[in-house]
Amino acid sequence: MSPTTTRNLASQSTGLALYALTLAAHALSAIARVVIVYYCLWFADVLTGWSIPANTIALIVAFAPLAVSLLSLLCPPLIAPIDGHWWEMSTGGRPPEQDEVEAFDEAFNQLQQADPGLRAPRHWFVAEEPGYNAAAYASSMRVDRGLLESGYAAAVIAHEMGHLRSSDAHLTSALNLLLLKPMSTPEMWPLWSLPFRGLVWLASGQAVVWFTDNAWEMYWRSREFAADEYAVRLGQGYALAQSLRHDLPYERAIHRMRFSRATHPYTKPRIARLQTLILATQAEGAN
Ligand SMILES: [Zn+2]
Repeated sequence: MSPTTTRNLASQSTGLALYALTLAAHALSAIARVVIVYYCLWFADVLTGWSIPANTIALIVAFAPLAVSLLSLLCPPLIAPIDGHWWEMSTGGRPPEQDEVEAFDEAFNQLQQADPGLRAPRHWFVAEEPGYNAAAYASSMRVDRGLLESGYAAAVIAHEMGHLRSSDAHLTSALNLLLLKPMSTPEMWPLWSLPFRGLVWLASGQAVVWFTDNAWEMYWRSREFAADEYAVRLGQGYALAQSLRHDLPYERAIHRMRFSRATHPYTKPRIARLQTLILATQAEGAN
């Protein structure tokens, strides 16, 4: 096993350990949901006189997101296709047109020349964006319209395949399934309603996201480097570095970057690292 593969596996185990801690923390979200659902049903019971099994329903509703999230990791074919199509719908994605299918296939053929065993994702869709971006989630890939019209499709798709072929994409989906509804952090005032708003914040899962987000983003930034390494292995390092140069003019300084919630590392060090990796790969090939 190469040092890169060993490092990559160690990094993914860190992600799984972080997921286990996050899942345990979401037990608190589930308890908050038990309280809310139980009292709503109890109130409905008192009003209507129906014998509602409040305990059972509250427990099922409260812990279902945890079970579905865990299932998405233990048995991805059961959850990932549904979650991927939901992702397409909720982000305004659309199926590719014929010329886009051809551009994607052409890019993928390039990657298969480096790795004939590489399989294209079963589900991919187009985001109506002019940029050169793409993303991986569950077992699906989103590709910007602009990327398919550019000369960088193979490079960026190679990077995303790095996320799809590791635990990254499934872990992103498993985390997302734990969050019932994104919410903003409750304001302090009015104080009298803070306990109720806090309980809803906790029940939604957003409170746990708020506490764990920095750790997760630190982890995701490290995974960007791992996906870049994968693109280099597919011979796309130089093209990926070129595509990243388009992001440079828009980069802003981020307060305490190392511990921040920035989703991606700074682009310039990423390009420098890609160049080092390309040289190392060339040296390996020459030996
Ligand atoms: Zn990435």
